[in-house]
Amino acid sequence: MINNPLIFAATSDIAGKTRGKAFPVTELEKRLRRGVGWTPTNVMITCFDAIAESPYGALGDLLLIPDPDAIAEVDFRDDGPVERFMLGDITDLDGKPWECCTRSILKAALDRLEKAGGVSLVAAFEHEFQFKDAARPLGEAYALTGFTARRRFAEALTAALEEGGLKPDTFMKEYGVSQYEITNGPGRGVRAADDAVILRELVRMTAMRLGEEVTFTPIRDPAGVGNGVHIHMSFLDADGNPATHDPDGPSGMSGVTGSFVAGVLKYLDSIIALTAPSDISYLRLTPHRWSAAYNNLGFRDREAALRICPVTAADPQSIARQYNFEFRAGDAAASPYLALAALVHAGAQGIEEGLTAPATTEEDLSSLPAGELEKRGLVRLPQSLDEALRRFEANETVKGWFPGDFPAVYAAHKRGELAFLDGMNQEERCAAYESAY
Ligand code: GLU
Ligand code: MG
Repeated sequence: MINNPLIFAATSDIAGKTRGKAFPVTELEKRLRRGVGWTPTNVMITCFDAIAESPYGALGDLLLIPDPDAIAEVDFRDDGPVERFMLGDITDLDGKPWECCTRSILKAALDRLEKAGGVSLVAAFEHEFQFKDAARPLGEAYALTGFTARRRFAEALTAALEEGGLKPDTFMKEYGVSQYEITNGPGRGVRAADDAVILRELVRMTAMRLGEEVTFTPIRDPAGVGNGVHIHMSFLDADGNPATHDPDGPSGMSGVTGSFVAGVLKYLDSIIALTAPSDISYLRLTPHRWSAAYNNLGFRDREAALRICPVTAADPQSIARQYNFEFRAGDAAASPYLALAALVHAGAQGIEEGLTAPATTEEDLSSLPAGELEKRGLVRLPQSLDEALRRFEANETVKGWFPGDFPAVYAAHKRGELAFLDGMNQEERCAAYESAY
C-alpha cells in the first residue's frame, strides 16, 4: 500500500480530549513555524461531540503549533502504521497564547510558582483504566492471574511508552473489574502533563492494536470503584536540588511545600470543577471509595484529597529526593494541563498568602460530626458538577488566575455537557461517559 507518513498536531482541550489535525512529515519544518489552522469554537465541543453555546460563533482563526519536544512516535511493528503525534500550543495569528489553550495556561501557572516559591514542579501521573471486555473471573484484584491475562498488553504498552519518550514505572491489576493501573516516571514542568496526555493515547492505541478497548471514565458503575488519576508532586529549587522535604517540618514538609499544600486545600472546593470535571466524577468522590471526599491532607490514608507518600530510602539525600505528595481528587475527564494548572495556581496562591502547613488527618472523616470538621477547617467537597461549577464561578480569586474569558468559556462548556445528560439516570450517564473516555 502506498503511504505518506503523517504527524497529528494535537491539543488536549477543556473536554480532556486530544484533538487536532494531521500533516505530512515532509512539511514539519513549515508546520513548526506556522502550525495548523484552528477554530475558537472547537473548544466548545464537549466530550459527547455536541457543541456547547459558543461565545466565538463561527468567527476567528487560531494556530495550533506543534512542539517538537512533545512528540510521540511509536512503531508497534505489527504491520500497522507508525503512530506519530505532537502536542502543541494554540496561539492567535500574532503568536500570542490563546486564552483557552490549556497547555499555555499550565505554563503560566508554572511561571507563577517559580516566582512565588523559587521552585519548579516535578510531577508524575498515575492512571487507572478498565478494559471494556466481558466480565473476567472473580479474584483477580492485584493478582498474578489478572496481570498475566494482560501481560501481552502490558509489555506492548511499556515498550510503546519508552519509544514515545516516557519512563514507565509500574503496571498492575487494580482492584476493580478489568481495572489496571499504569504509573509513569516524573517529568519536569509542562513535560509531566505532556507525558500524561501521551500515556492516555498510547494506552488506547496499544489496546486497539490488540483488538481491545479501554476506558478511563471516572466511574463505570455507580456501585463500583472509580478510575482515579493521582498526581504526585515535588519541587526543585533554582539549583535543581530537592526542595519538598524538611526533616524538621510538619510531617516532613518544607516551608514551600506546607504553603503549597495549604493553598490547594483552601481552594480545592473551587477548583475541583477543573480536576474532576464530569457529571459522574462526583459519584467517585464519595467516602469509602478510596478517592477523596474532603479537602484533607492524609497521613498513611488513601481517602484524602492530598496524601504525603511514604519514602523507602534511608539516607537523608535520597529521602529528600523521594519525598512527594499526591493529589487524589482528579480523573481522566480532565485535561492533564488544566488539572495541573489549577493545582499549581492554588499552591502558588498558598505560597503568596504565606499559609502555614495544614495538620494531617488519620481517621474516617465521614464519621466526624459537622462541628468537628468545621473546627479543623475541613469541608465536604462539592457533590455534583453543577455545585462545583458554582463554587468555581463564585470564587473571584480562583477565576483571576486564568486568562481572559477562560472561566466563562469553561463553565459554558461544562453546562453544555450537563445539558446532554438531561433526563438520563445514573447508569445511562455512566454509559455515556464510558463511551466518551
Ligand atoms: N480507584 C481509586 C480512585 O478512584 C484509587 C485506588 C488506589 O489506587 O488507591 O482513586
Ligand atoms: Mg490505584
